[in-house]
Amino acid sequence: MKKNGNINVQTENIFPIIKQFLYSDHEIFLRELVSNAVDATQKLKTLKTVGELDTDINKLRVEVILNKEEKTITIRDNGIGMTSEEVDKYINQIAFSGAEEFVNKYKDADKKNSIIGHFGLGFYSAFMVAKEVEIISKSQTPKSKPVRWVCDGSPKFTMEEVKKKTKGTDVVLHIAEDSLDFLEEGKISTILNKYCKFLPVEIKFGTKKEKIDDPKGTKDDKGNIIKIDKESDNIINNTKPAWTKKPSNLKEEHYKEFYKELYPMEFNDPLFHIHLNVDFPFNLTGILYFPKLKNNLEVQKNKINLYSNQVFITDNVENIVPEFLTLLHGVIDSPDIPLNVSRSYLQADGNVKKISSHITKKVADKLSRMFKKDRKDFEKKWDDVKVFIEYGMLTEQKFFEKAKDFALYKNTENHYYTFKEFTEKIKEIQKNKEGKTIILYTNDPKEQHSFVKTATDKGYEVLELGGPLMSHLISKLESENNDYQFTRVDADIIDKLIEKEESTISKLSEKEQEKLKKIFEESIDKEKFNVQIQNMSVTDSPLLITQSEFMRRMKEQQQLSGGGMQMFGSMPESYNLSVNANHELTSKILNEKTKKNRTKLINQLLDLGLLSQGLLKGEKLTEFISRSVSLIK
Ligand code: ADP
Repeated sequence: MKKNGNINVQTENIFPIIKQFLYSDHEIFLRELVSNAVDATQKLKTLKTVGELDTDINKLRVEVILNKEEKTITIRDNGIGMTSEEVDKYINQIAFSGAEEFVNKYKDADKKNSIIGHFGLGFYSAFMVAKEVEIISKSQTPKSKPVRWVCDGSPKFTMEEVKKKTKGTDVVLHIAEDSLDFLEEGKISTILNKYCKFLPVEIKFGTKKEKIDDPKGTKDDKGNIIKIDKESDNIINNTKPAWTKKPSNLKEEHYKEFYKELYPMEFNDPLFHIHLNVDFPFNLTGILYFPKLKNNLEVQKNKINLYSNQVFITDNVENIVPEFLTLLHGVIDSPDIPLNVSRSYLQADGNVKKISSHITKKVADKLSRMFKKDRKDFEKKWDDVKVFIEYGMLTEQKFFEKAKDFALYKNTENHYYTFKEFTEKIKEIQKNKEGKTIILYTNDPKEQHSFVKTATDKGYEVLELGGPLMSHLISKLESENNDYQFTRVDADIIDKLIEKEESTISKLSEKEQEKLKKIFEESIDKEKFNVQIQNMSVTDSPLLITQSEFMRRMKEQQQLSGGGMQMFGSMPESYNLSVNANHELTSKILNEKTKKNRTKLINQLLDLGLLSQGLLKGEKLTEFISRSVSLIK
C-alpha cells in the first residue's frame, strides 16, 4: 500500500532556500540528524524508566555509515522509531513548518554571524547535501509496521510499508552531485569530532584496528607473544564528559585530563578551574578553566565551547558570557540559551542575562575563596591571573565590587597588599597638605630606580604597577576612592608629589632664585623644559627632569586608543626641570662669572638629568661624552 502526498508547506518550494541557506555551514546536517537519532534513543530510555516499555532495550547506539558506491550516508539508531502516523505527523507536518518558519525569518539576515547556533532546521537540513532522503523506521510500539518515507527535495513525498527487522530508524541520504565531498571519511570524521564528541550515546563510525596480544598465545622466535590486528568499533565520542559529572566525584587530575581532551594542542596545564552547576532558575553546567595567559590576549579568546545537551553549538560565546570571561577556556552547556536567534537579540534575553551574571559571580566567588583559603598560593598565581582580573574589574562593575577585596598590588619589596590593606598602611604617612593620600607607583623599577629610592628612603611605599590595563585601572580606582590619588614616582620631585606643610628652608634668597631661573632659561630650550627652582635637601640631586602625571597619562591613553585623540597628537614633549636651590653645584653656577662657563655647567647637569631618565640619545649622547672627558681633563 503506497501513499503519495504533499508536505504541509505554505511556501511553494523552500528546498532551494534550505540548500542555499548557511552555505558555509552545510556540515550541520550531520549534527541535526545525529542529535535526532540520539534523542530517539533517549526517548526510549525514558519510556523504559517510566515503565511504558515491556521489552528489554539493547545497548543504545547511533551509527553513521558511509557508502561510497551508493553515494549514501546513513544515520542509524536503535531508538524509539516512528509509525507511519508519526512520520506523517512529525515529518510531513510539524518538522517542515518549523524549518519553513525558521528559513523565512532568517533568509535576509546576515547569515554567517547573526544566528547563534543555526539550530532549528532539524531533519530538513538533510536537503542541504542530499538530493533524496529516505526514512526507514520501525516503532517500538508492539506490532507496528515498518514504514519507508521518501522525498526528493520537492514538497512531494511517498510512504509505504516495508520490511525492517530491527526497531529504530535509518535516515538514508542520497548525496547530491555538488556535495560528494561529504562522502570522504576524513571529512565526516572531522564533523563528528566537532559536533558530536560529547554526545551522551555511543556514536559508531566505522571500525578501527588495534594491535593486541594474540589470544591463542602464539609466540615468535624470541618467545614473545605475537601481536595481531583486532578490529573494533570506532566510537567517536566520550558519552560522559567531565562537566556532566558531580564535582565531588572528580579529582584535580580529572579536570586536567578533560582540559587536554578539549584542547589537545594546548601545551600548558590550566591554572585552576570552576565547575558550574545550576538548575534554577535556569539550567547550566560546565567547566571553565583559567589558562596560563600569553601576551597576545586576542589569540586566547573564543575558546569556550557552547553546548546544548552535549551537542556542540558554537565556540563563539560573544554576548553570552561577559567580554572579560571570553579569555577563559572550557565548556558551557545550557539548553536554556535560545539557539535560533540572532546575537543582538540574545543580549536582551532574560535567561542569557542571568546566565552571564551568574557566571561572573561564580568566577568572583571562586577567586575570593582561593584568596581566603591560601593567600600565599594566591599570591603566587597572581601574576598569571592579574590581567584577567583587572580586565574584569574594568568592564563589569559587579565583578569590580567583589574583586576589589582580593585584587593584589605589589610594592617594590615584593609584598602583596589588597587595596584596603595598602591604603590603611600609607593613609597618614603619604597624606599631603590638602588631605589627599598619594599612592606612589613605578611601572619600571629599574628605570625609575633613583626616584623609588628617594621615596623609600623617606619612608614612603612605592607600588609596582604594570601591564596593558594599568592606566585604566588607576583611573578606575581613583574614581572609586576619592581620598586617594595615584602618582608615578618620577612625576616630580618627591616633596612636590607629596607636599607637606613644612618645606625645607632655602639657602638662596628670593632674588637669587629668580636670577638662577633666568640663567637656566638662557641656556636651555625653554619650550621643552619648564624650569622650577625647588628647595630640596642638600643630599638630593642638583637637577631633576620629570614629566607630570597628567601629561604622561594623556600620552599613554592616547597610545592605547591608537592615536584617536587628535587633540594630544600635536602635544609637544615637555618636562619639568627642577633645580635644587640647596645643592652646592647650584651655588657654583650662580657664582660663575662668564656665560660660557655657566652654560657648560648647566648643559652638563641637564644631560646628567636626561641620562638618568634614559632620555639622552644619539648625537646628544656623543656630545655629552666628549664634554665629560674634557671636563675631567
Ligand atoms: P526537532 O528535532 O527540532 O523536533 P526535526 O525536524 O529534527 O525537529 O524532527 C522532527 C521530529 O521528527 C522529531 O521531533 C521527532 O519526533 C521525529 N524524528 C526525527 N528523527 C527521528 C529519529 N531518528 N527517530 C525517531 N523520531 C525522529
